[in-house]
Amino acid sequence: MTRRRRVQRQNFHRDSRVQARDEKSRWDDHVDLNEDDKIALVRAGGMEVEVPFEWEVCPQCDGDGSVVDPNIDAGGLSRRDMRRRGPGFREDYFNGRYDVNCPRCEGRRVVADLDPQNNAQEDVVEVLQETLRREASTDQMRRAERAMGA
Ligand SMILES: [Zn+2]
Repeated sequence: MTRRRRVQRQNFHRDSRVQARDEKSRWDDHVDLNEDDKIALVRAGGMEVEVPFEWEVCPQCDGDGSVVDPNIDAGGLSRRDMRRRGPGFREDYFNGRYDVNCPRCEGRRVVADLDPQNNAQEDVVEVLQETLRREASTDQMRRAERAMGA
């Protein structure tokens, strides 16, 4: 892998849209939403507890439902990058030609915000957050190892 390619890959993984995709899939491993009743079944630390939730505007896309494909601009685009991609790119880019469904809300514009009402619900939400943090750092470590060729 060339150095430039490696830097591009690091930027890609550091990009919040890419991280959101991973966070979403980790979250889905632990939380099942019953959207009709606005109740989430949360599984964490050996517990399984129903917790009410509210919809909130997706913090990733600000409620747009879409984001620019991180394959296009992870790490940011300079004017030079824009020029290099040729005529029409800039217009297409700003017209949303490269948009994809937001990885966090999957295009729904809203995400579930857990709203615990008692101690048992608060406990499971706390354990869930710890679990997700731990899983995130494990994933990051694995990726760093792979990047070093381990
Ligand atoms: Zn979103």
